[in-house]
Amino acid sequence: MDLNLDALWMPFTANRDFKQAPRLVSRAEGMHYWTPDGRQILDGTAGLWCVNAGHARPRIVAAIARQAAEMDFAPPFQMGHPLAFELAHRLQRYAPAGLNRVFFTNSGSESVETALKIALSYHRVRGESHRTRLVGRERGYHGVNFGGTAVGGIGGNRKAFGSSLSGIDHLRHTHDLTRNAFTRGQPAHGAELADDLERLVALHDATTIAAVIVEPMAGSTGALMPPKGYLERLREICTRHGILLIFDEVITGFGRLGAPFAAQHYGVTPDILTTAKGLTNGCVPMGAVFVQQGIHDAFMQGPPTAIELPHGYTYSGHPLACAAALATLDTFDDEGLLTRGAQLQSVLEDALHSLRGLPHVIDIRNTGLVGAIEFEPRPGAPGRRAFEVFQSCWDAGLLVRATGDNIAISPPLIVGASHIDQIAATLRAAILTLT
Ligand code: PMP
Repeated sequence: MDLNLDALWMPFTANRDFKQAPRLVSRAEGMHYWTPDGRQILDGTAGLWCVNAGHARPRIVAAIARQAAEMDFAPPFQMGHPLAFELAHRLQRYAPAGLNRVFFTNSGSESVETALKIALSYHRVRGESHRTRLVGRERGYHGVNFGGTAVGGIGGNRKAFGSSLSGIDHLRHTHDLTRNAFTRGQPAHGAELADDLERLVALHDATTIAAVIVEPMAGSTGALMPPKGYLERLREICTRHGILLIFDEVITGFGRLGAPFAAQHYGVTPDILTTAKGLTNGCVPMGAVFVQQGIHDAFMQGPPTAIELPHGYTYSGHPLACAAALATLDTFDDEGLLTRGAQLQSVLEDALHSLRGLPHVIDIRNTGLVGAIEFEPRPGAPGRRAFEVFQSCWDAGLLVRATGDNIAISPPLIVGASHIDQIAATLRAAILTLT
């Protein structure tokens, strides 16, 4: 394909390296992508954890086209449109108990910023404006905007942009290969790490802490599953000290773990929950923040102001995104996709764990329809082995995701057993070429 590579500054990409070996996709349907020269690629990552119902679903495509013709855009200031209300109401069916107020955004990063602002403002409207500290966790990823980068726990991102907010603390991450390597499902060890929050309370006083934000399963840094009892303990400590608990479910939302949300899968309910990605099946950018009714009501009962929450986006609740989301939810329901991760967990689990014992593999972990393989870092070249596996899989017609020394797998929820066999066989061949 004759393509000029000199104008686009690519996101999340080593732009100089990319020019040596451009990887391009130009068509997608069901479980597959196609390259411009017609090569079929099995999608082992649901795009980027978002195309949960598979690609180019005609019902979703038609809903977007219909809505574009009917009404392309609606201004969000002091007015609305019916689809946004319909979608928010519909989402109550899937949300964890009590989280039945929804604020729309356009991405995971925007959902995180919105959640942090709601948390800080909630305390303020209740007369607790001294609660300003925010607590994240090492190896957490909460998008790339300033708030999300600050509460995020990725060293490189924080070094570049993470110091813009003050009063940020981090819990330790829970990834422990000494005690938990090759765990199927939730690791047994590490619940006590939630007590890091007690240490922060002792240090700063609970009345200075607004919220704790964690991914129930940390996706972007390698699919790190929460130890048994960890989320429960975090919930208990937050409740005892009046600290809001935010779950970032941008990846785990909409069926990835075998329930609508990780909150339901793990049986722990946060106060605020952020989503994006799977909400529209990745078709149209959209995010949503779910909040406990009581949090929303505190704003409505506070001193009257022109606008209760001075926050929003031009495209909050965009009509095309709402149409895509409603058609996506219909698809999830009709095909039982939000529980398919529970049905297929053991198939993916057995396939991935069959790679145990291959050279350089130091961990395999999984839950629902997500899994990861971790490699011993090559001395002096961290992340290189995972990247080479990613490249070999791509050459062999499989898309996986390399992150640090991990390969993450998260196929669309329509995946079949034969696709899972293909994923495992391709990974095996790729791993066997590693040095
Ligand atoms: N939070 C989490 C947990 C994520 O995984 C991501 C994206 N991978 C984001 C936030 C940011 O989402 P976006 O890229 O849509 O801004």
